[in-house]
Amino acid sequence: MSTDVSVKRVFNFSAGPAALPLSVLQEIQRDMIALPGVGASILEISHRSSAFVEIIEDARNRLVNLLGIPDTHEVVFMQGGARLQNAMIPANFLTSKDETADYVVTGNWGKNSAAEVPFYGVLNKAFDGAEGSFTRLPEAADLQFSDNAGYIHFTSNETIHGLQFKQAPANGDVPLVCDASSDFLSRPVNISEYGMIYACAQKNAGTAGVTVCIISKELLERCGDRNPSYLDYAKVAAKDSMLNTPPTFSIYVTGLVCKWLQEEVGGLEAIEKMNSDKARLLYDVVDESGGFYVVHAANPEHRSVMNVVFKMATPELDRKFLDEAAAENLTTLGGHRSIGGIRASIYNAMPREGVEALAGFMKDFAAANG
Ligand code: PMP
Repeated sequence: MSTDVSVKRVFNFSAGPAALPLSVLQEIQRDMIALPGVGASILEISHRSSAFVEIIEDARNRLVNLLGIPDTHEVVFMQGGARLQNAMIPANFLTSKDETADYVVTGNWGKNSAAEVPFYGVLNKAFDGAEGSFTRLPEAADLQFSDNAGYIHFTSNETIHGLQFKQAPANGDVPLVCDASSDFLSRPVNISEYGMIYACAQKNAGTAGVTVCIISKELLERCGDRNPSYLDYAKVAAKDSMLNTPPTFSIYVTGLVCKWLQEEVGGLEAIEKMNSDKARLLYDVVDESGGFYVVHAANPEHRSVMNVVFKMATPELDRKFLDEAAAENLTTLGGHRSIGGIRASIYNAMPREGVEALAGFMKDFAAANG
């Protein structure tokens, strides 16, 4: 069987699970039968083996290195996706049912996160963009924080609506908890400004199965003894993410993605520049289309660099766009079923040539149908 997969690959704009760097796929393929020096594959070895302990430590060290994670914070690998974190966050960080958490809701994912709070405490929506169909982020004056919130939760990049914060919506020293599922590792972040950042891996950091949680030791002290053991961050952290059998393959892939970022891309500043250049290619076509393409985000400042979300005048035209794009090997461009239209997810692993191909297609499509 040929190992040259590049000729058969499409440009995959999936929102997640999403495209992986080709060199990561090739390394997985090369080592799938037997990891060098181990003689068995990653799928077959014990999580207690020295080979796997080395793999999980390597993934953790690479994350620490890439993001400059200070030793005030722990890296915890969890299962259950970002969804489980939505429930674990209030369960662990609200110490009683009377305590309030502030949620800045700028899209479906923030709405889903907020919905878990009432099981454990009091929910205050410091901002709710639902009335404006999630077309904008809050200005400072829109934020109605409570006086003594346990933490503030926000979603740095709303994957469905294509809205991305350039700066976190902070309130003094109230711990910030960020769902960074769809822009993790896409740009540098000052971890010390956060109580917790979490991200499911299947968009920008690997494959489904693992969620990376970076949690301050201060917040870990709040976990108390209120939750079942796997649902207690402090207990999982104390066992180095091996309270139970961790998602070994997914952790291995996250390590490889970090290695790619470090050794082939040149770190997070470099990927940030590549990402913003890619996004500009698409937004420029939109802005020069004379209104043929309309971005969901009302304010250009709020546009996501990861998920470019737009539509045309009619759903029929959107459908035609998707069909013709797929014929050109530009796939998985359909918007989320809740809002329709088009969504181009251009995470770290989407090569610039894929975005150039899409930009070219968009220009031709507008010229032929405008
Ligand atoms: N948060 C955000 C911002 C997401 O984009 C997603 C997945 N699309 C989730 C949470 C849910 O992640 P999971 O399916 O891993 O639970």
